[in-house]
Amino acid sequence: MALVDFTSKGLYCSAGDFYIDPWKPVHKAIITHAHSDHARWGSDRYLCHTASLPLLKLRLGDVAIESIQWNEPIYINGVKVSLHPAGHIIGSSQIRIEYNNEVWVVSGDYKTEDDGISGVFEPVKCNVFISESTFGLPIYKWRSQQEIFQNIREWITTNQATGKTSVLIAYSLGKAQRVMQCIKDMGLKIFLHGAVWNVHQTLLEAGYDLPNAERVTPETPKENFKGQIIIAPPSADGTPWMKKFSPYSVGVCSGWMQVRGNVRRRNADAGFPLSDHADWNGLLNAVKATGAEKVFVTHGFQAAFSKYLNDNGVSAAEVKTEYGGEEEETPPTLPEGEAFQEPDESTIKSDIETKENKDEIGS
Ligand SMILES: [Zn+2]
Ligand SMILES: [Zn+2]
Repeated sequence: MALVDFTSKGLYCSAGDFYIDPWKPVHKAIITHAHSDHARWGSDRYLCHTASLPLLKLRLGDVAIESIQWNEPIYINGVKVSLHPAGHIIGSSQIRIEYNNEVWVVSGDYKTEDDGISGVFEPVKCNVFISESTFGLPIYKWRSQQEIFQNIREWITTNQATGKTSVLIAYSLGKAQRVMQCIKDMGLKIFLHGAVWNVHQTLLEAGYDLPNAERVTPETPKENFKGQIIIAPPSADGTPWMKKFSPYSVGVCSGWMQVRGNVRRRNADAGFPLSDHADWNGLLNAVKATGAEKVFVTHGFQAAFSKYLNDNGVSAAEVKTEYGGEEEETPPTLPEGEAFQEPDESTIKSDIETKENKDEIGS
């Protein structure tokens, strides 16, 4: 019997009798991170990283949750379980399971670049690695956070000079906190949409040192926003809620923005390819570093990524899960009637944002 089975309720460790990120209610769930497709409602007991705890409570309410630190092994029915940094968002963890001299690691979502707030991704040796593949196509190659932050700040400065408010579209948990680090020293006011504000407050109460920000309320005088910065989740973009910031410019922060066509389709004034997931090389390097003899590939471009691994000497298989569909794992919102299409190799090269055709940034 495998150490982890893929069941209709989620990833199940029968030796330890627990689930990892189950999508159906179970008696014991170990949670990789607080995004809603991984941390679902209805289980009897939860276990997560200490930093995930307040975020999980925000999401799930008053449920039974225990927490542990990274690299602090516990035993569940004789199975050794430990959490290791995944670098995806605050508290995000890979889950290492050891039993009878066999080690499996469930990655959850991860990114290999250090964003300064989520913990540094730790490669963990294992026999079997279960990996996400959100950006598992060779076209996804991220520029450094430092470079993208610079682009965001330049764009804001340009907006301000022309009397425009900068509206940054960023997922409320993860991306928004990163973006705040980018803009905190610009001397401008930061206003947050309610969804971003809720996460912000939760993290402040948990002791995180985050930049000063104000919540956007119906009472906030319109003139307060002029030339300043708003952070809002994708769901707010294009809604009447945005009207009070006029004149404004919209910048979308998402890995999907590396494909130029998505910036246009998304109707954004600027796209900043800042992602909380590993890019193609990040995924490959992570897999290599585990030394795993078998890799199971979950949500994202499973087919492409597992085929590449198999073609290159790593035994891999696709696994169907119910992850994805939340936060950055959702391809950009498209105008009604238009379906998201995976870019094919022929359009990829011209579509990638290059230094020469950066006109959508800063314009
Ligand atoms: Zn996630
Ligand atoms: Zn995910």
